[in-house]
Amino acid sequence: MCAWQMITDTNSRPPRVVVVGLASCFGCQLQITNAEAHLTEILGQIDLRYWQLVTSEDMPDEFDVAIIEGAVTTREAEETVRKVRERAAHVMAIGACAVTGGVPGMASNELASRAKEVYADSLPDASGEIIEPRPVSDVIEVDSEVRCCPIDPYDFVAHLQRALFGSNRVDETRTMCADCKRNETECFFSKGELCLGLVTRAACGARCVNLGRPCNGCAGLSPDANLNGARAACASYGVSVADFDKALEMFNQVALQK
Ligand code: SF4
Ligand code: SF4
Ligand code: SF4
Repeated sequence: MCAWQMITDTNSRPPRVVVVGLASCFGCQLQITNAEAHLTEILGQIDLRYWQLVTSEDMPDEFDVAIIEGAVTTREAEETVRKVRERAAHVMAIGACAVTGGVPGMASNELASRAKEVYADSLPDASGEIIEPRPVSDVIEVDSEVRCCPIDPYDFVAHLQRALFGSNRVDETRTMCADCKRNETECFFSKGELCLGLVTRAACGARCVNLGRPCNGCAGLSPDANLNGARAACASYGVSVADFDKALEMFNQVALQK
């Protein structure tokens, strides 16, 4: 039986949902509240057992759907996501921190030394045992991912609906440029400016380009991304290849090190 059948077959009760925050700015949890008009409808369909943003209670032991924001940066977080995986029929990672390692992932391979630089020998106990930042999917199997920094609230609602009721829709894997072309916006490269859309996974409809800003790659690398081809494209348009590589580190540092 697939996970969503397990969730919807509960019949007698609405699906029990928990929202967990790891290393993050909590901005994606906040974005959930921006679903505004849909929020009361969502709350009417689920039994929201735990939302870390708004409670200091402990997470309950039993739930059906777990929504995880944030990167895994401590042994304690690693244990938490493993426990969540054992208990939830559906695990959803939300936001760049959880999906790609995001901003915490920029310190990949050097978080412990950076923490030592800042705190010397007085790292607060509350920080836990620091490990290299990783996306949630590097620790456990994840059933769905809502991309970007921050998430789009309506994209979140669509993914939650799919988790609760099932769907045969699969997430896009292509790069963002095709979406961008359909929007008929001018390409930044034609102006000699860098844009990471050419290697970034299509997940947002080219939101930033539509607003006149180049893509920073917050949706993560597309599996179709051709990094060497992109570097060659940068060079041919007079865009610094070094700047391209540096810009990729903001949201894709963990993937680049694999
Ligand atoms: S993805 Fe961005 S908005 Fe969401 S928690 Fe991480 S830093 Fe904050
Ligand atoms: S590189 Fe950026 S601006 Fe150019 S087509 Fe791709 S997404 Fe659009
Ligand atoms: S355009 Fe790029 S940076 Fe902007 S939301 Fe989409 S993926 Fe993220």
